[in-house]
Amino acid sequence: MSPTTREVQALDSAHYMHPFTDHKSLASKGARVMTRGEGVYVWDSEGNKIFDGMSGLWCVNVGYGRQELVDAAAHQMQVLPYYNSFFQTTNEPATKLAKRIVGLAGDRFSHVFFSSSGSESNDTNVRMVRHYWATLGQPERNVIISRKNAYHGSTICGVSLGGMAGMHAQGGLPVPGIVHIEQPYHFGLAPDQDRDAFGIEAAGWLEEKILEVGPEKVAAFIGEPVQGAGGVIIPPKTYWPEIQRICDKYGILLICDEVICGFGRLGAWFSAEMMGAKPDLITFAKGVTSGYIPLGGVVVGKRVADVLIEQGGEFNHGYTYSGHPVACAVALANLDMIEREGLVDRVREETGPHLAQHFAALSDHPLVAGAETFGMVGGFVLMKDKTCHLAFDPSLDIGMICRDHCFANGLVMRAVGDRMIVAPPLVCTKTDIDEMMKRVRICLDATLKDIQSRGWMDAAHPAG
Ligand code: PMP
Repeated sequence: MSPTTREVQALDSAHYMHPFTDHKSLASKGARVMTRGEGVYVWDSEGNKIFDGMSGLWCVNVGYGRQELVDAAAHQMQVLPYYNSFFQTTNEPATKLAKRIVGLAGDRFSHVFFSSSGSESNDTNVRMVRHYWATLGQPERNVIISRKNAYHGSTICGVSLGGMAGMHAQGGLPVPGIVHIEQPYHFGLAPDQDRDAFGIEAAGWLEEKILEVGPEKVAAFIGEPVQGAGGVIIPPKTYWPEIQRICDKYGILLICDEVICGFGRLGAWFSAEMMGAKPDLITFAKGVTSGYIPLGGVVVGKRVADVLIEQGGEFNHGYTYSGHPVACAVALANLDMIEREGLVDRVREETGPHLAQHFAALSDHPLVAGAETFGMVGGFVLMKDKTCHLAFDPSLDIGMICRDHCFANGLVMRAVGDRMIVAPPLVCTKTDIDEMMKRVRICLDATLKDIQSRGWMDAAHPAG
C-alpha cells in the first residue's frame, strides 16, 4: 500500500533537504507530494489535478507520460547502461546526439561537450573559455562579464556567473574574475524610454564594462537570450545585435545560455541567432531530454573547437556522466518527438502567437502590468496602481500570495518577486492554452479579492 500524504511529508521534513527552500517554514505546512503526470497536467497525492504552467522547471517540453522516452531509456539500459568517455572510449548514443545537436545549432558549430546539468555546463564554459585564451597565449584574458538578475546555475561558478543578489550573499560569491552589468529590463528600469533605444543603451553597458576591466582582460560575455528565472525578461529587439557588435569589436567570446530558451521554447531549436546574436558557445540542458533524465552540455563553435582541438592539448576537465548513454538515448528520442510533432514551428507560428494574444488581453485586469511573451514563455507584473507604475510594498510578497491562489485553483505559475511567469509544455494545444489562461484569470481575481480584503489596494497602504 502506498504511504499517506502525511507519511511522505514526515519523511520529507525529517530527511530531505530541498533546493531553494526555507525548511522551517516548509515543515510547518508540509510539502505538496507530486505523484504522477500526463500531458500538461500533474497530480498530487491528494488527487488534485494541476495544469503545469511551468513545464516542471522549464523542462518538460514534450509533456508528461511519453512512452517513447521510457522505451528509449529501458532499451539503452539493457544494452549499455553506463560507460565513461574519459579513456579514449565513446558510445553510440553520445556520438549520434552530438552530431544531431551540432546540426540543429548550425554551420558555425562542430562539437558538443556533455554534462548532466545547466550548472555544470556553465562551469565547463568558464573552464573552456579560459583554456581557449591561454592556448592562444593570452592567459590574462580571463574575466567573464555577465548580468545582474541572470541565472546560470547553482554550482560555485554557476552562481557567480548568475546575477542573483540573494545567492551571492551566501558564501562570499561571486568568485574573482566574474563581473556583472545591469540587465536589459525595459519595464523595470526605463518604462518611459523608447524600447529600442533602451535596448541599445543596455547593450552599451557591456562596452562600458569592457573598457573599465580592460579589453585585453575580457574573455567572454554570457547571457540568456531571454532571462528565465530572473522573471522572463525579454530584451528589446535591438539588444542582441548590439551585444554581438560589441563582442566582435573587442574580439570577446559570446556564450548564450539556452538552458531554458533552447529546444523549441522560443520557437527555434536555438534562439540566439533568431535574436541577432552569433554565439561561440551555447549552454543547453532541460529541454534536451524534456527533463525525463538529467543531461546538459555546451555546443562548441568552430572558433573555439578548432583552437582547443588543434593546439589545446589535453583539456583537464570532465564529468563521470559526460555522454551518459542512457541520457543521450532519451535525448535522441525526445528530439525525434519534437521534430515529428513539429513543436518548434508550432510554437513559433501557432501556440506562441496564441499565448501572446491572451497575454495582451490580460492588460484589462486591474493588477496586471507589462504582460509580454516570447514563444512559450510569458510574464507580467502585479502592480498596486499601474496607471502610475506604483509597485506593492515588497514585504507584502504579493507574488507568493498569487502563486498560492494558483495552486489552490489547479495551476502552477511561478512568482519572481511580483512578476508572475509561465512556461507551459510545448505540446500545449490552443485549447490547452485557453484552459491555462482561464485559470490565470481565476487566480488573478482571487488574488485581487484577497488583497483588497486586507486593505492593501488602499491608497493609504504603503507602496514599494
Ligand atoms: N542556466 C539557465 C538559463 C537556467 O535557467 C538554469 C536552471 N534553471 C541553469 C542554467 C542551471 O541548470 P541546472 O539547474 O540544470 O544546473
